[in-house]
Amino acid sequence: MGNIRDIFKTKDKTFSIELFPPKTEKGYSNLMGTIAKMAALKPDFISCTYGAGGSSRGKTLDIVEHIEKEHNIAAMHHLTCVMHSKDEMESILSDIKSRGVDNILALRGDPPQDNPDWMPGENNFKYSSELIAFIREKFGDDFTIGVAGFPEGHILCPDLNQDAQYLKGKVQSGADFVITQLFFDNRDYFEYMGRLKNIDVTVRIIPGILPITDYQALLRFTKLCGASVPDKVHKIFEPIQDDKEATLKAGIAFCIEQCERLLAAGAPGIHFYALNKIHPVDEILSAIC
Ligand SMILES: Cc1cc2nc3c(=O)[nH]c(=O)nc-3n(C[C@H](O)[C@H](O)[C@H](O)COP(=O)(O)OP(=O)(O)OC[C@H]3O[C@@H](n4cnc5c(N)ncnc54)[C@H](O)[C@@H]3O)c2cc1C
Repeated sequence: MGNIRDIFKTKDKTFSIELFPPKTEKGYSNLMGTIAKMAALKPDFISCTYGAGGSSRGKTLDIVEHIEKEHNIAAMHHLTCVMHSKDEMESILSDIKSRGVDNILALRGDPPQDNPDWMPGENNFKYSSELIAFIREKFGDDFTIGVAGFPEGHILCPDLNQDAQYLKGKVQSGADFVITQLFFDNRDYFEYMGRLKNIDVTVRIIPGILPITDYQALLRFTKLCGASVPDKVHKIFEPIQDDKEATLKAGIAFCIEQCERLLAAGAPGIHFYALNKIHPVDEILSAIC
């Protein structure tokens, strides 16, 4: 239905929103209401994450199909290959295709908490680049394929030039575009763009942006994913961490400024890590669009 490659043909900048599958029935029905409100903001696409080790298999697909069919908005299914065999991946991809979803964010993922030592065998993919090549081999150009990029380097690959080479490998395997890990210092994004340009990576690198709404949650999350928190962020949010309203207000102001600067300097849009909430993305989008 909504193929992101076609959207790129007509738009220089895209605005997109990322959701995750809730664990409870109540969370799921709340999310349906949130998606309806998000649809009214007319994002170019909405993506839904895939639980580690395939734990959200089925739910992610239901959500992206709902976004496409009920709201007529392009949806992107995140898909990780950790713990799935190649045959399973082919069957999951066939399901996604048959349900009318044309966009995949192809990822390696990480082993789940209850199986942290899982290692890929002969019948698994080791890296996302292998999954991307497999999708192209089995499904041709049916899917638009996005991949993850890491402006500060992936947590397991602190060598920034090596990390950029791995990203190039994903593009050479068939990826159409990149969404970045969250970052709070725009210099990280622009330096990343510079490294990628030097090695002839020319696909869109869409900044992934997290509006700050909770200082302690931010510290926990950035520690897990390896993104750094600049002094400027600590200085603003640490003193007001117990004041929800003040944090929300400061988070919106920080995010609007970050997005405006990225867009003014040529970023091809923004992908929001919305954490299943309509607010504050609604306010930020109306300020920057
Ligand atoms: C936008 C975005 C969305 C995400 N969505 C999800 C989600 O829905 N579900 C989820 O579980 N996780 C998600 N993640 C997290 C992601 O799964 C983890 O960051 C994971 O550790 C790496 O996935 P990848 O696809 O980048 O892996 P890869 O590209 O395979 O890279 C994994 C590691 O191997 C290294 N590497 C890559 N290629 C090679 C090579 N050829 N040789 C040697 N080393 C190599 C890389 O440097 C990196 O250290 C997301 C991340 C981002 C940025």
